[in-house]
Amino acid sequence: SIFLNGVSKTYGGEVVAVRELDLKCPTGQMLALLGPSGCGKSTTLKMIAGIEEVTTGEIWFGDRPVSALPPGARNIAMVFEDYALYAHLSVFENIAFPLRLRHLPKRVIEERVEGMLDLLRLGDIRDEKVRKLSGGAQQRVAIGRALVRDPDVILFDEPLSHLDADQKVQLRTEIKRLQQTQGLTSILVTHDQTEAIAMSDAIAVMDHGVLQQVGSPQELYETPANTFVATFIGEPP
Ligand code: ATP
Ligand code: MG
Repeated sequence: SIFLNGVSKTYGGEVVAVRELDLKCPTGQMLALLGPSGCGKSTTLKMIAGIEEVTTGEIWFGDRPVSALPPGARNIAMVFEDYALYAHLSVFENIAFPLRLRHLPKRVIEERVEGMLDLLRLGDIRDEKVRKLSGGAQQRVAIGRALVRDPDVILFDEPLSHLDADQKVQLRTEIKRLQQTQGLTSILVTHDQTEAIAMSDAIAVMDHGVLQQVGSPQELYETPANTFVATFIGEPP
């Protein structure tokens, strides 16, 4: 599980991006961080990843305090909205890249990449250059590249926001299936309530850096804690 205890983030000594945040994401579940632009979602994710330091508070993975650990020691993978793939390399080579960096034996790399290609149904386009693929396929490659290192936790920051409506719905289902079948502990950042409702086990609604409510999609929908949550969750898709 991931725990955040009283986590705050102040940028440059003045902008309070996240305030006294308490959160929990049990092992094998998906927690969505939902809220409007600027509410502190990405900042929260970056602190979990270790890309940004917490100003105060603690982050734990299970019984391991990680707030002081560098990103490389946290065994976490991140998938962003812009896929940051190597456009001129093939699907296979993009997914293999993190393993090549580790100088793993060729046979091990091939085995693991094959596994990812199967899992993400990318086998047919394994030799295509990534720049020729649709946005949805590119994002699946990015997910493959993230998962191939076998991370304990996977963090998604608006993974669907560059995709068209059809691709969004398709990839949403795909990510959900992966997350459930692989038992991935994951946090999903989104400003799209239908995405959060469709994909996550629990939703944490944030506004101006402050947690407004956390609960199952149904709880938030049926018993919103305040008008902000009611309005945000209740907006028709
Ligand atoms: P969006 O939906 O637009 O991505 P967000 O919920 O991810 O928004 P954050 O990016 O976490 O929000 O930003 C939270 C607040 O912190 C905002 O007021 C933002 O301007 C500020 N902020 C974010 N990053 C920095 C930074 N590196 N330096 C200074 N202020 C920052
Ligand atoms: Mg953001």
